[in-house]
Amino acid sequence: MDLFTYRNGELYVEDLPVRHVAEKVGTPCYIYSRGTLEEHYDRLVAAFAPIAPLVCYSVKSCGNLGVLRTLAARGAGMDVVSGGELARASAAGVPASKCVYAGVGKTDAEIVAAIHAGIGLLNCESEAEFENIACLAAREGATVRVALRINPDVDPKTHRYTSTGKKETKFGVDLERARQFFARYGRDRHARLEGLHLHIGSPIYTVDPYREALTKTAALVDDLARDGFEIRSIDLGGGFGADYESAQSPPLKHYADAILEIAKPLYDRGIRFILEPGRTIVANAGILVLRVLYTKTSGDKRFIICDAGMNALLRPSHYGSFHFIWPVAPDAAYLPSRRALDPEIPGTVAHDVVGPLCESGDFLALDRMLPQNIARGDLLAVFTAGAYGMSMASRYNSTPLPAEVLVAGKTAEIVRARETYTDLMAHELETTPIEVGAVDAALAEATR
Ligand SMILES: *Cc1c(COP(=O)(O)O)cnc(C)c1O
Repeated sequence: MDLFTYRNGELYVEDLPVRHVAEKVGTPCYIYSRGTLEEHYDRLVAAFAPIAPLVCYSVKSCGNLGVLRTLAARGAGMDVVSGGELARASAAGVPASKCVYAGVGKTDAEIVAAIHAGIGLLNCESEAEFENIACLAAREGATVRVALRINPDVDPKTHRYTSTGKKETKFGVDLERARQFFARYGRDRHARLEGLHLHIGSPIYTVDPYREALTKTAALVDDLARDGFEIRSIDLGGGFGADYESAQSPPLKHYADAILEIAKPLYDRGIRFILEPGRTIVANAGILVLRVLYTKTSGDKRFIICDAGMNALLRPSHYGSFHFIWPVAPDAAYLPSRRALDPEIPGTVAHDVVGPLCESGDFLALDRMLPQNIARGDLLAVFTAGAYGMSMASRYNSTPLPAEVLVAGKTAEIVRARETYTDLMAHELETTPIEVGAVDAALAEATR
């Protein structure tokens, strides 16, 4: 669901015309609906209520502080994958104790900062990382709770770039190694190994991969209990779908019912559950609004050239993803009744929707059926752009990052100002000479 609807012939975000917001803040801009964020969060919590999970929102899906604060106010924790994301969670007022930290390549500085902040759980991805965490925690005289990320070797049937629970991916350790891992490290006094973590991929549109992964995890919990290790928490990761097309994703309750079947008995034995949803909360809660700069025809091809492309939204060119795109204020004949590859509206013709960058890969849609009267100056909405949109945006071609707006009812707030050219160059305007000899000496000292 979402609160982006066509009313009175134009697109509204909650109770505001998108056109008014875009005219105020300019384009490209991301617009988020607070009501949609809240509704998604609440539905998730309700669906999983029997295991009362800590919902740690995945900061990497959309890390805007306005979005984080909205979810934090509802009681969300945060799933972070870098020191920068932990800093964002903290800036949004989320205590580190409600944060879980995953990632195959945490630096020493990031690990130490997370320990000092009082991180809820470090999700550890390898033997080498565990040894480093244990060593750093001992050095700091601290204890930190650790969950082992396991790789259950299931196929989530999603894009290979976002498939993370198969053996050949870089994430976690496989199940056979998990028992040895606990045997070897399960009694460490500084790094307390007490949880299991999995995140098998994204987006996942069927419940079977979850059922399969959790079944394997439950068996591992029993094996570990026999080995004398008690698991206190299971983090099920994220990966629930979003509606890129109308009603594409099964309702959250559908995932929950399948998961609860296996999870509830574990919960009744005292195991605490954590979820790390990103996309399912924020994807449909955001749109990207663009202005049409030019249209042109080249051979049989019709192009719509917009004021941003892969710099603002990388997913189409990086993953080949589908995003529904439609004019913000179409002619009455072109009001869409559904969001789909083919919206089944007479008078539409195939277009490539492209950005201004100097790359052939700079597109948002190829051969897409769109109204044939789209013209210079029109506003286009790119739907389901809240997740992995702004968080993957770049400044390629020295394009300032888009503005971000959070709308609630009739009120709109700029939650990220549009960047200026000065922002683009901020770290280059002053140069700093360094003494290379001194750096060498410090390195020699550090590696002695
Ligand atoms: C990206 C990621 C998530 C969130 O995935 P979604 O598909 O956005 O729900 C959760 N956990 C981990 C470890 C991740 O890397």
